[in-house]
Amino acid sequence: MSPQAESLSRILARIEAARKAALKPAPFTRLIAVSKGHDADRIRPLLEAGQRDFGENRVQEAMAKWPALKADYKDARLHLIGPLQTNKAREAVEFFDAIHSLDRPKLADALAREMGRSGCAPQVLVQVNTGEEPQKAGVAPREAGSLIATARACGLPLKGLMCIPPADREPAPHFALLAEIARAHALCWLSMGMSADFETAIRFGATHVRVGTALFGERRRP
Ligand SMILES: *Cc1c(COP(=O)(O)O)cnc(C)c1O
Repeated sequence: MSPQAESLSRILARIEAARKAALKPAPFTRLIAVSKGHDADRIRPLLEAGQRDFGENRVQEAMAKWPALKADYKDARLHLIGPLQTNKAREAVEFFDAIHSLDRPKLADALAREMGRSGCAPQVLVQVNTGEEPQKAGVAPREAGSLIATARACGLPLKGLMCIPPADREPAPHFALLAEIARAHALCWLSMGMSADFETAIRFGATHVRVGTALFGERRRP
């Protein structure tokens, strides 16, 4: 087994154990392997081992390295987990299977326009800045309802919510808040939990955990 395949099976086992330990786990918890900062040669062994969901935070980087990988693994699914500029909406809509970072009405409009034009319909998640950190992307919790309504009015395929809790604080209350907002708006996907806290996120109902470092080791590029 390649080292990547070994760490994949370790992470999948930890996900299963966390789901078993949870009082009310989500109906499923999917692992998104966060491959940002890693070259294709590090990603390929995970594809060979059966991993299919991958996360990238920059449109440009994903478009540089994924076409060759997708040619061999057509069923690989790409998730955009980083902030999206409106002028990259077209590329993002055509390239990604899911966009986790809808955070403003103007971007909802741009995504709807590009989906209408291209016929592509990636699934959409609203990113909520649960810690209300000024430097972080995401809509403030009190404005989430309004952005969710806008996304639905635009006809976007809105599936759920995403958050990145503050780095220096206990993540559990942030996961609980995200789950509460999702429940209030009948959204079923919860994209939450990273290398350091994915087991906690699963306890609060994560359907998608985004794991990079624990899977690949340290990133070569920042
Ligand atoms: C980089 C990144 C991750 C993965 O972080 P790790 O700590 O390496 O697991 C998850 N989510 C987002 C939005 C990221 O940018």
